[in-house]
Amino acid sequence: MKYAEIIIAVSNKNVDRIFTYRIPEKLSYVKLGMRVYVPFGAGNRKYEGYIIGFCNEVNFDKNKIKDILSIPDKYPVFSETMIELAKWMREKYYSNLSDCLKCIMPSIVHEKTAKYAYINKDFPNIYKIINDIIDKNNQQSKVLALLNKYDGITLNEIKIVAEVSDSPIKSLEKKGIIKIYDREVKREFENLYYTDKKSIPFTPTKEQQNAINTIIKGLNSDNKKPILIHGVTGCGKTEIYLQAIEYVIKSGGQAIVLVPEISLTPQTVLRFTKRFQDKVSVTHSAMSRSERFEQWKKAKNGEISIMVGPRSALFTPFENLKIIIIDEEHENTYKSDSTPKYDARDTAIRLCEIKNALTVFGSATPSIESYYNALNKKYELVSIKNRINKSYPNITVVDMRQELASGNRSIFSRELFNAIKNNLDKKQQTILFLNRRGHSTFVSCRSCGYVMACSNCNVNYTYHISSNKLMCHYCGKTENNPSVCPQCGSKYIKFFGIGTQKVEKEIEKLFPNARTLRMDLDTTRKKNGHNIILKKFSNGDADILIGTQMIAKGLDFPNVSVVGVIAADLSLNNGDYKCGENTFQLLTQVSGRAGRAEVSGNVYIQTYNPEHYSIVFAKDNNYIEFYKHEISIRRQMVYPPFSSIFFIVFTGVDEKKIITNLYKLSDIMLNYNRKGLFEFLGPAPCMISKIRKNYRWKLIVKSSDEEKLKSFVIYCLNKLKENYNLIGISVNISLNPSYSY
Ligand code: ADP
Ligand code: ZN
Ligand code: ZN
Repeated sequence: MKYAEIIIAVSNKNVDRIFTYRIPEKLSYVKLGMRVYVPFGAGNRKYEGYIIGFCNEVNFDKNKIKDILSIPDKYPVFSETMIELAKWMREKYYSNLSDCLKCIMPSIVHEKTAKYAYINKDFPNIYKIINDIIDKNNQQSKVLALLNKYDGITLNEIKIVAEVSDSPIKSLEKKGIIKIYDREVKREFENLYYTDKKSIPFTPTKEQQNAINTIIKGLNSDNKKPILIHGVTGCGKTEIYLQAIEYVIKSGGQAIVLVPEISLTPQTVLRFTKRFQDKVSVTHSAMSRSERFEQWKKAKNGEISIMVGPRSALFTPFENLKIIIIDEEHENTYKSDSTPKYDARDTAIRLCEIKNALTVFGSATPSIESYYNALNKKYELVSIKNRINKSYPNITVVDMRQELASGNRSIFSRELFNAIKNNLDKKQQTILFLNRRGHSTFVSCRSCGYVMACSNCNVNYTYHISSNKLMCHYCGKTENNPSVCPQCGSKYIKFFGIGTQKVEKEIEKLFPNARTLRMDLDTTRKKNGHNIILKKFSNGDADILIGTQMIAKGLDFPNVSVVGVIAADLSLNNGDYKCGENTFQLLTQVSGRAGRAEVSGNVYIQTYNPEHYSIVFAKDNNYIEFYKHEISIRRQMVYPPFSSIFFIVFTGVDEKKIITNLYKLSDIMLNYNRKGLFEFLGPAPCMISKIRKNYRWKLIVKSSDEEKLKSFVIYCLNKLKENYNLIGISVNISLNPSYSY
């Protein structure tokens, strides 16, 4: 081929198209999916580009075609499959092809090379010569003695260990006794999750076997439909995944397993490494770029068969990909919030279509959209109704209004207090869950009502007791805790609202002998922080684990028999159409941490809204009834899955400018909405109306036709850009985001 079709690695809609370059003779080895450097633009600056195709003919002046400059890597960084996937992502998530390719691309780290010395075994009578020199006891002999022991070590190591300069090494090379080569430095990295204790498959229960059979049938079918496994917590879903993967590997296939977040689900990850050992690799954010690249190469070379990781593990370059498993499919982490804003679930389905592979979703509380798809036969539904140990925890909903009426002002209801106490006596463990970190979430003056708030953000400060400081959870700004009110000078500063630190303090006060651990963003910043806390708890070094949603997922501690939810209302009133769903999911996940082994479990949900449907159905452990209720609300309000919602958010330091321009956009949209296909909400300030000195306003557009909605929004935004100067405004658009803005 004469020419290469190249995407320039620049994030700009104006250059989001193919550019043709000539392949010079010396680069004729270039392959599809390789990175290249090319001259670009009028000034011919050097840019990175990606080869996504070739051609022999062009329909424009050949003399204008520039040459590719160079190729930085030895191998392609994209397969044909990944290029196709990137093209799909561009359309689906209205982004640039270069951004989609960058998102898929491994973090390339060039091999470091070093000079290695070897004994030249082809030299006649080499060992006799070596022995002669060693006997002479000079500088050269030190080098040879070392190489005699460890053949093939770096010159640096020789100089350090043998305490010699360069010259004896050089002389030996000159004489031909040793040879020196440039070689890649080996980077062995420690797989945190590796274990040599191999686990043996359980004999599946009837329900598990049914699920495994459905997966195997799916794998062998030509017309693959994604499978949704809806199974209560502790029903043995992980074992189903393991046995499905076993089948895939036996037939020479490869598997990708997505988990919401590696550090929060170490036990799940360990179950994969225990079963498949060195066939598995794990990618996670604590790994360095080179470690991740190492795993990418292993996958590409077929040295591993299973990749476990967060959503980005989707782009593992397996040639024989046969299955993608997405565990806890309802989790928000499967949606990316940076460009391209892809949803790992949809992207997995598309990738499986390209590769003729099977997508399997699993959850105890499937997202409303996925369950809707399953009921409408877009997915195959497998339901598992029984826990492996048959028992499900008793869930008690405690009405905190009544506690207050009876004079209990503590953050613990009497029932939860007694349960913690009894559990301590029985030497069993307790988990206390509160989705808010810090000590007090609201600091205000009792004389004038002034509330301490961050000056960069429209957010109240949270009081952190360990540092005795006020902290903004949005920009991280801290301030000393004021001794007098900044507004009126009064000394009566009061703390309201509870965070995990306060729960910990209260436990210390009420149960001085209890050993507590706290797991939230503040205690897990250090590398491996999660693992250390979880290990301590699982070793029985603590009686009570207090934490945010970090402790809600995937943990399996057999000795935990009481779970307390301190305030179930926190996720109920955030004005999001998903808040009912999120609350139900969170409560079910947290409850699932109790009574996983022989000991029976008791869960206490404290709330001021005991009659809210998401709390009532979580108490009854009844997903189906919850779904029916939720889907009827969605239908009535025309929310997803009955519509698509676009959030358009303008941010900038000039509040007036963002508001006027958002109103202009709104006018344009109203003007073009002649058939009334689209429905609007706003403009209105975002829930957090200022972050890091940037004001934030939103406009919401709804429609039942996603394609039309997408082109409408993009068309109107372009009209706005053509007619007005948007400098200083950052425009953020997001389709069906996982949270409200
Ligand atoms: P889930 O992933 O659905 O929450 P798990 O896979 O964690 O459930 O299973 C719950 C517990 O039951 C685990 O401790 C697991 O080792 C055990 N288990 C799973 N399948 C079986 C089986 N067929 N027989 C016995 N124990 C099993
Ligand atoms: Zn005051
Ligand atoms: Zn702030």
